[in-house]
Amino acid sequence: MKILLQLQELDLRIEALKAREVEIPKQKSKFDIHRKRLADEIADREKMCKTLALEQHECETEIDLKQTQIRKYDQQLLQVKKNDEYQALLHEIEMLKKQVGLKEERIIAIMVERDESKARLDEDKKRIKAELEDIDGQCAAIDTEFTEAVHERQELERECEPLAAQVPPDLLLKYRRIRANKKTGPAVVALINETCNGCHMRVTPQIANEILGNTRQHACSYCGRLLYHHDNF
Ligand SMILES: [Zn+2]
Repeated sequence: MKILLQLQELDLRIEALKAREVEIPKQKSKFDIHRKRLADEIADREKMCKTLALEQHECETEIDLKQTQIRKYDQQLLQVKKNDEYQALLHEIEMLKKQVGLKEERIIAIMVERDESKARLDEDKKRIKAELEDIDGQCAAIDTEFTEAVHERQELERECEPLAAQVPPDLLLKYRRIRANKKTGPAVVALINETCNGCHMRVTPQIANEILGNTRQHACSYCGRLLYHHDNF
């Protein structure tokens, strides 16, 4: 029984490590979400820069078109004979020049925005690079923790074998069955004040006596766990 308790202690530690092996990788999934968010952030900033560049290009194209039109009208002015036609052309030229002026103003504003946008992008890239490095570091630490848990568990599993070999086969079988049924927690528990320390139910005085006297092995009739008394070790 004493060896069985040692075996159980190992088994419980193995159980806890297995639970950690399941939990540890889950910590990494939150970093995946974080990484994605950072990538989206950069993509947004880059998109903003591109949109501004595109708008500037469109303004420049429009200015070119309007200036070509202005030159055309200027040529026509030389040939027009009627005064009202002349005035109409002058008016058209005036309008186009105003539009060109507005576009030029917009280009200046865009250039300022582009500078700011580029500066923000560079700043964000720097910050995000640092954040990603931090995440990589934390993920590496998680990987190490995982590997250590696996090694520790394997080590304990190796320790179990010689112990299990020393436990009487029928007792070992009972123990393994109870553990398989319970899935978690101890399969052998102490009897304290005639009470099962697994389910906290009271056993009959006779059973308590037999356990204390170490004359017979008993399982708790409520939870099925094997019982032992501290005084017997
Ligand atoms: Zn019980």
